[in-house]
Amino acid sequence: MRILRTIPEVRAAVRDARLANRTVGLVPTMGAFHEGHLSLMRAARAASDLVVVSLFVNPTQFGANEDLGAYPRDEARDAALAEAEGVDILVAPAASEIYPEGFATNIHVAGLTDVLDGASRGAHHFDGVATVVTKLFGIVRPDAAYFGQKDAQQVLVVRRVVRDLDLDVRIVTCPIVREADGLAMSSRNVYLDPDARAQATALNRALDAAAAVSESGERDVDRILSAARRELDDAGITPEYLELRDAETLQTVTRLDRDALLAVAAHVGAARLIDNHLLSAPAANPTDPKGDA
Ligand code: AMP
Repeated sequence: MRILRTIPEVRAAVRDARLANRTVGLVPTMGAFHEGHLSLMRAARAASDLVVVSLFVNPTQFGANEDLGAYPRDEARDAALAEAEGVDILVAPAASEIYPEGFATNIHVAGLTDVLDGASRGAHHFDGVATVVTKLFGIVRPDAAYFGQKDAQQVLVVRRVVRDLDLDVRIVTCPIVREADGLAMSSRNVYLDPDARAQATALNRALDAAAAVSESGERDVDRILSAARRELDDAGITPEYLELRDAETLQTVTRLDRDALLAVAAHVGAARLIDNHLLSAPAANPTDPKGDA
């Protein structure tokens, strides 16, 4: 595995692969690898000839009061894990390589970024994501790029950028990888002390409880969300948001009559955690043409 730090080096390495008709898969990350990251690398490895993983803690997607300085960083450990997954190139640039003096462009996706994490963290967050991912696509020019459903809103934002700007890259979404007790893996889980770690399991329990209510045929969004809120209350967690929204547009829904994203964010101990489940509309009742059973 090669570790490359400059844009010209990456371009040259990928150009050689492309000239040899090899397909290129890209996995953008901020490092501190866990099984969630490794699952994306495996998916990329299985489908591409050349696997490129970027490791860049992107400063522009952090707010002034967020954890940019504390974000876990261990490049040597990450490099060893990536190499063990058969990654060909680890791109680990300095911030000045990505944002040189005079950098002035910002990609803003309207609408999708106004809600959920966009509302909680501020517009800069998804602007930072959209801009750095677009740069990575321009540098690596991958055939496919791999993202985790863990960051469901991020996937929607990236897909919209690709569609709106006609970028020639296939976006592949990989399922959420969880700990044995259901906690979604996250680089930020290292911030959890043992009490907070135990408390954090309530996030997935809450989503499961809401999913169970919806699977029993309930379509009223308030009742579905109440089931989740009870689990959070029992664990002493006040969510930053707990919402059910259209799975594609992120518009609000009051009835579960289409595929919807059930998303939660909460501060648990020293960590801000997010998690989500996709809920599908209950199958339409064949005796009810409106499907309003
Ligand atoms: P990050 O390093 O947190 O920016 O994440 C890099 C990529 O890994 C993103 O596409 C994330 O959605 C994905 N990812 C993070 N955690 C998980 C997880 N638990 N399961 C699946 N993918 C994940």
